[in-house]
Amino acid sequence: MDDRQFRNAMGKFATGVTVIATEVDGGVHGMTANAFMSVSLNPKLVVISLAEKAQMLEKIKKSKTFSVNILSDDQRELSMIFAGQLKEHEEVVFERLDGKPVIPSAVAQIACKVSGEYVEGDHTLIIGKVTDIHLEESDPLIFYSGRYRSLSEGQPATL
Ligand code: FAD
Repeated sequence: MDDRQFRNAMGKFATGVTVIATEVDGGVHGMTANAFMSVSLNPKLVVISLAEKAQMLEKIKKSKTFSVNILSDDQRELSMIFAGQLKEHEEVVFERLDGKPVIPSAVAQIACKVSGEYVEGDHTLIIGKVTDIHLEESDPLIFYSGRYRSLSEGQPATL
């Protein structure tokens, strides 16, 4: 099986899009990620998967804290900025939740402290214990088959 076939298959799993943010020595670093899921309700745990080459990995290992920001439909530009796909842009301003930097107007801001790290292949799974959450009532940005999508595209789903 080649890499392209694996990527194409994984891309068939429609996801939201998050920006992971952390702060080291007073500097905030953000990174776009869709490898995110809920792990446990009690205690409240989530997981993100970071490529070994991602700068974010070393930064979270130092800070031991991070936020997960689930982007809204109108935040595609932020996704591109934090994926390194858009170099010319205005300064991104962060808010704070439980002291962690978070993206204003994200559908969900989830503040976490690191509770585990597991190296698997060329990625590291970071388990986060959720310390605070803030929610907004807006539609999420969707990523499917390598493209950004909107929940409002196409026909409404039927039961
Ligand atoms: P960099 O590449 O240095 O940073 C990313 C970009 O964010 C840079 O352009 C940087 O200038 C900008 N940036 C960082 N902090 C700030 C700031 N404070 N203000 C303004 N700009 C800033 N990779 C994974 O490992 N796991 C995933 O789950 C994952 N999912 C992805 C999902 C999607 C939809 C996309 C498009 C990409 C995904 N990636 C994922 C790839 C990942 O986003 C990129 O490889 C990213 O560039 C890695 O970031 P980095 O930490 O190495 O830092």
